[in-house]
Amino acid sequence: MPSQKPMDFIDLKAQQRAILPDLMERIKRVLAHGQYILGPEVKELEARLAEYVGVKHAISCSSGTDALLIPLMAYGVGPGDAIFTTPFTFIATAEMIQLLRATPVFVDVDPRTFNLAPDALEEAITGLSKHPRTASLQPKGIIPVDLFGQPADYDRINAIARRHGLFVLEDAAQSFGATYKGKRAGALAEVAATSFFPAKPLGGYGDGGAIFTDRDDLAGMMRSIRVHGEGTDRYHYARLGINGRLDTLQAAILLAKLAIFDEEVKARQAAAQRYSAALREVVQVPYVGQDCSSVWAQYSVLSEQRDDLQRKLKEQGIPTAIYYPIPLHVQAPFAHLGYAPGDFPISERLAPAIFSLPMHPYLTEADQKKIVDILID
Ligand SMILES: *Cc1c(COP(=O)(O)O)cnc(C)c1O
Repeated sequence: MPSQKPMDFIDLKAQQRAILPDLMERIKRVLAHGQYILGPEVKELEARLAEYVGVKHAISCSSGTDALLIPLMAYGVGPGDAIFTTPFTFIATAEMIQLLRATPVFVDVDPRTFNLAPDALEEAITGLSKHPRTASLQPKGIIPVDLFGQPADYDRINAIARRHGLFVLEDAAQSFGATYKGKRAGALAEVAATSFFPAKPLGGYGDGGAIFTDRDDLAGMMRSIRVHGEGTDRYHYARLGINGRLDTLQAAILLAKLAIFDEEVKARQAAAQRYSAALREVVQVPYVGQDCSSVWAQYSVLSEQRDDLQRKLKEQGIPTAIYYPIPLHVQAPFAHLGYAPGDFPISERLAPAIFSLPMHPYLTEADQKKIVDILID
């Protein structure tokens, strides 16, 4: 079969056609008022985000990575602190822990959801003092990741955190719009981080992110850290911070995208259902827990024949991606932590078998049928 025009992994152009008039109007307004830093669109977006997620405070910032860094700084995370997280995630999660000279302590994932496994978490916390390598560390916090758009098991994780006096920072970079027991991602832990990187479910036209919390004291500290630790006025500093602001132009773009976001989430969920119904016999399709909904940041499947399947799809102009080919515990930046292959068997079993299919709200049934037919064949 001759291959036609290559398919998009994520089609951002179809979305742009849907919002173009509103988008241009909002961008023109920013150009007219000229408040490019922390302008009115930033405040409007923060109000909309807080309402959408169902929390008291939404603090926009420059990226999902800074949305992780800022709360860690607010909690005073530093040398000697152990922060528990998954090795099967994007590097930013563990990277920000280590950037502050704290120690990421990896915990393996659940084999069905690929999210932090609560039993393994409890074991890692109680086992910390028993291992010579980690005995001197103070357990301080947990960063669960809502992988591929599905929230982790927060009832169990928050209960474990309370028992051990730890904070929980939800990495909701992939799950903005998802739900867990009727609550939205971003509202599932004491503080949460999301990303507006273009390929995320709610993506801008550049970098961006947001932090969510109900706690007034934390929110105040994080707003200060976002702007160089500023205090009561502009050139008075209360603490060390960063330049972590979201651009006004980016906020205007996100407002236009937020207006159609709920419809887009429904379209993603419909596309995921079609994939799963058609592919159940061919590959291991994603599992979504009863109490959860996913926003399908990625539609990821497992197959022992991954490389063959990817090659066949590629020959027909269909792109795929691998999230994540190598777990973090065996990556160079974490080598000094002393982990070895075999330490996290589930993550290590996923890495060579997982791959993601094209997924976005504008994926047509015809394109999906083409993908499914190639995989079944
Ligand atoms: C994308 C992502 C981040 C980082 O977000 P950026 O906006 O790219 O900085 C952090 N954690 C996870 C799980 C992500 O997928």
